[in-house]
Amino acid sequence: MELEGVKRCLSSLESEVTMNGDTVDKHNQVVSFLQSENKDVRFDPWHRLKALKKDLRCLIKSLDNEEDKQNMTELSKRFIIHVYASLEKSNGDAKLCQELVFSFFLHVQGIHQWPRKRKYIELILANEKKVCPRFKKEKFETLNECRHITEATHPDSNHEPIAAESKLYQTILELVAKTAFMNDLGKMRIDKMTSYVENFHSVAILYRTAC
Ligand SMILES: [Zn+2]
Repeated sequence: MELEGVKRCLSSLESEVTMNGDTVDKHNQVVSFLQSENKDVRFDPWHRLKALKKDLRCLIKSLDNEEDKQNMTELSKRFIIHVYASLEKSNGDAKLCQELVFSFFLHVQGIHQWPRKRKYIELILANEKKVCPRFKKEKFETLNECRHITEATHPDSNHEPIAAESKLYQTILELVAKTAFMNDLGKMRIDKMTSYVENFHSVAILYRTAC
């Protein structure tokens, strides 16, 4: 149904306007169809991060200790906010966005400046095999300090540093050091949010007559 809707919308729109790209909610059939048509596919950050938030909630649920649950909830919230801020700051630069996102793991350790070319793999101390091959190869090429160091308007952290050996840190890092998340990060754009369409549809469903 959703795929058929996309096909009909596209054929109608493309006869009227020139389309530079398509932003979708990562519906598998739709993405695969658009890619087969050689379309420039982007993902709406809210939808994509909703899936990540679901994974984080499952992880939190699986923890036995109440204090760990609270700490993981806090760290997860900080990470999601950081991803949104990284998408905004990078302004469509996929590599910068990736470096900003992974700099979170240095920042939470209390490391706010680091040598250029530092490898992402140095962020993880054990269980190296649980990260994807791309994560093992990537480095901080352009970023070597946190935004709050260079931007007076960006607030410093008031959180206690977290050890890289901690289970909470390692668990979140392993969750995002995966091929799917790293690839999707490059396709998310803050200026490609579909919230306007979602809002329009929620009103239209209520007030438009069925036809
Ligand atoms: Zn920092």
